Amino acid sequence: MARTVASRLSEQLARLHAAARACGRDPQEIRLLAVSKFQPTSAILEAYAAGQRDFGENYVQELTRKAEELAHLADLRWHLIGHLQTNKAKAVAAVATSVQTIDSVRLAQELGKRRQKMPPLDVLANVNVSGEASKSGCQPSALAEVLAAIDAEPTLRLRGLLTVPPATAEPELAAPHFDELRRLRDAHGGPSRLPELSMGMSADLEVAVARGSTWVRIGSAIFGERALAPSTPARSAS
Ligand SMILES: *Cc1c(COP(=O)(O)O)cnc(C)c1O
Repeated sequence: MARTVASRLSEQLARLHAAARACGRDPQEIRLLAVSKFQPTSAILEAYAAGQRDFGENYVQELTRKAEELAHLADLRWHLIGHLQTNKAKAVAAVATSVQTIDSVRLAQELGKRRQKMPPLDVLANVNVSGEASKSGCQPSALAEVLAAIDAEPTLRLRGLLTVPPATAEPELAAPHFDELRRLRDAHGGPSRLPELSMGMSADLEVAVARGSTWVRIGSAIFGERALAPSTPARSAS
């Protein structure tokens, strides 16, 4: 029997609650971000109808297109979880509830300048904890100045840190990377300054929750496997 987005979503919420209880945490402390990159808006609508409100996108063009298509859903919240170029900060500032991937002083400044006439934008710094060359995110040694740049922008609200561990077949191997993100949080002001830790995806949700995650970013476990490229808007033949 084909599983629907709604049934997969409720399975993932149950999984999140079980993971929280298994380590003695209150499930309410942890929010589920439905990662909808490369998924059609019809799938987002299914999740929305089932009660999901927070959606994560990686690519600016795809985010702005979907935000426009679904603008009638006033309480749907968009979160950017992909690398953001400064020249696209304005488009994101206009539609996002949070940007979880601030990785430079310049990006913080540009986003701050572009967020206008709206409530402050929640932001997290993306830290490249593993040091992989292919990964975006600031180096741990640059984190202090990135956080200070965020604090300096009155239109940004510093919320915490995000990391993406190296891809691996063994979820437990993510644990040291999540521990390191939490250590960095404690070294840079602790939970009062950085209440959010965005860590954990479909494969390693339990590992991340046991290490203090407050945002798990779940894509394929809710929406199924992704197509290889973002779904493109229908174009009329000319
Ligand atoms: C795609 C993506 C996710 C979701 O990954 P799944 O393995 O499909 O759950 C989470 N976080 C980031 C930063 C991503 O790019």
